[in-house]
Amino acid sequence: MILGTHTSISGGLHKALERGEHLKCDTVQIFTKSSNQWKAREISEKDRNLFQAASKSTGLSPLLAHDSYLINLASPEAEMRKKSVDAFDLEMERAVYLGIPFLVFHPGSHKETGGKEGLKRIGESINGLLSKRKKPDIQLLLETTAGQGSNLGYRFEHLRDIIDHVEKKEFMGVCLDTCHIFAAGYDITTRQGYEKTMEEFDGIVGLHKLKAIHLNDSKKGLGSRVDRHEHIGKGFLGLEPFRFLLNDPRFQNMPMVAETPKGEGTNEDLENLNQLRRLVTTQE
Ligand SMILES: [Zn+2]
Ligand SMILES: [Zn+2]
Repeated sequence: MILGTHTSISGGLHKALERGEHLKCDTVQIFTKSSNQWKAREISEKDRNLFQAASKSTGLSPLLAHDSYLINLASPEAEMRKKSVDAFDLEMERAVYLGIPFLVFHPGSHKETGGKEGLKRIGESINGLLSKRKKPDIQLLLETTAGQGSNLGYRFEHLRDIIDHVEKKEFMGVCLDTCHIFAAGYDITTRQGYEKTMEEFDGIVGLHKLKAIHLNDSKKGLGSRVDRHEHIGKGFLGLEPFRFLLNDPRFQNMPMVAETPKGEGTNEDLENLNQLRRLVTTQE
């Protein structure tokens, strides 16, 4: 099992890894810059050395980066799309510079221009970004979404269609978020529903494309299309879906990270991680 949580980079990028170690994580997910700003301070060589030393000493792996919430690769407005592609380019560059192998991103929002066009624009944006690089050194993980507003990615078919538009498919993967798929209408709260959802995913996208999982409970109900994370076991998902995932032999080598609500310190993270650990029955 590779279990972790999203940790803060406050005080320095390497601090996120120290926080993960303190929480006894196997891996962590980070924002390499502020998630709600376009601007980013450059990562100095010193920052990078500190990060890579901490990466080595903590042994956290495989690390995940998550892109900024402002980026919209599906935007119908040329200016916004260019800004988004440039910002995503920088996200890729930063992750590669730090040695992070996965970049998780939200597919994008079509802004009422229709889903089909939006999916195509995402694929084209990614084609541009990947064609710039001889050897991308990173995998881009499309995250399943709750489908709030005109956000795409709330059906497995969307993810398939985006990947279909991408030329270099080997650099594309998927990150499944439990809160998001449930809010999008996939009921994983029963064994039967869980198996059916995984079968559906396998048939449409392919389980070989699944590279990471976000473990979040949901404050909103099934099919609500609202993205609100809750502490593990305290929301509409309850504990069962997490028990299914953590003990699923197919996912024993898959990074699973919580993005549950944070408090002042690390108490909430610790509680959520401990709750998840208690659900594991097949110890390695
Ligand atoms: Zn997520
Ligand atoms: Zn979310």
